[in-house]
Amino acid sequence: MSPKYEIKGWCPTALRPMESGDGLLIRPKVIGARIDAAQLGAIASLANTFGNGLIDLTQRAQLQIRGVRSSTLKDALLTLRDTGLLATSSGVEHIVNILAPPLAGIDPSAIFDSNYLVSDLSAGLSRDVALHELPAKFLFAVVDGGALQIDFSEADISIHPASEGRLALCLAGLEDAAIIVSRNEVVATTLRLAKAYIELRAVNPFDLRRMRRLTRLTGAAPLIEKAGLELSRFTPSRSGERIDYLGVHTTGDLAYTGVAASSGRWNSEELSELSKLAILHGLNEARLTPWRAIVFPAPDLASAIQIETGAKALGLIVDPNDPRRSVVACPGAPECSQSQGETRRHIERLAPLARRFAGSDGIGLHISGCGKGCARQKSTPVTLVLDGGRFNLVYDGVAQDKPTQSNLTLMEVEKIMTPNPRTKAPCPAI
Ligand code: SF4
Repeated sequence: MSPKYEIKGWCPTALRPMESGDGLLIRPKVIGARIDAAQLGAIASLANTFGNGLIDLTQRAQLQIRGVRSSTLKDALLTLRDTGLLATSSGVEHIVNILAPPLAGIDPSAIFDSNYLVSDLSAGLSRDVALHELPAKFLFAVVDGGALQIDFSEADISIHPASEGRLALCLAGLEDAAIIVSRNEVVATTLRLAKAYIELRAVNPFDLRRMRRLTRLTGAAPLIEKAGLELSRFTPSRSGERIDYLGVHTTGDLAYTGVAASSGRWNSEELSELSKLAILHGLNEARLTPWRAIVFPAPDLASAIQIETGAKALGLIVDPNDPRRSVVACPGAPECSQSQGETRRHIERLAPLARRFAGSDGIGLHISGCGKGCARQKSTPVTLVLDGGRFNLVYDGVAQDKPTQSNLTLMEVEKIMTPNPRTKAPCPAI
């Protein structure tokens, strides 16, 4: 049995920072995955001046500045406001959570331009204070059918291309039906659904804190009826998630470069240098991805190659075969006070082993400081959960699952993950 952990039920923002083992966590508000290269540099400088110089890129494609001191929080927020990355109110910043395609609006292979949708949805959510009652983890996702497809399985409401230029609104927990609307109606309909959810959730706010819980408990009918909508048959395509976003790529006449840091942890020098490189080579913006990587759309192939070369020289990940990308780890100790031990220091050592059995999204190992599993909610071939400084091991599951093996040392973990030289099996239970 893993030690208990606390479920906070909210994520840090800038106006509502979270205390962590290394100081306050604050998140600039990046909407629709888009950030100017200059803003990226400003965040690096802010992290260096007011924090401990470390920046995480989260699985919701948001940047998180670590180690901000209470004494400098006010100045950090003023600086953030000057960069244009501070929301107008805490109500707005905690509910405008939209996962967007990383190449939204510029991908020639996308079925529709999702930029307008993300910005209209964001404006609608911000404007209507009744919608600020949405739970802080409520997530919208937009899928545009383009080259870099996101995984929308964690979204409460996801928007997909449907036939004849229409769009489908899918609800978490409802597999084969959706509300089909025209592009003009999509934002208003999404907001109606969100409002109906808020009303139905009021009877039991904690248990119904995500859409999936509501649709599982009551089915979709009460929600659809309250919103005055109708369901049609629709199954969203799940085949599209792309994992070859690292290094230089092209889609149509668009070139771009994907750059990652080990498990999404960047330091201020890396982000500062990337920002300078991007500006030098005419790349004015960057796109944040839920894969904890940054994609730089480039004006031409030569510029995309320059960014790749520069990122490689900084020791960042630009090769899809880099073993470090097969491991996901939460901050762990000492940064998280709930952690049962260090997590990130094991990445380099275990990465070559993890790579051998990486799943379809390229991840083979999840190292979690406790059973909460903040870094990854999806099933992973191997999950290691720290417990009293040792490891519990879960196969094909998540950190909350019952471990198959417990109380392992790092050497025992390595032995289990090392392929049997005779059978070549990656590890006994896989
Ligand atoms: S999973 Fe990691 S980051 Fe989350 S609470 Fe546990 S130790 Fe902290």
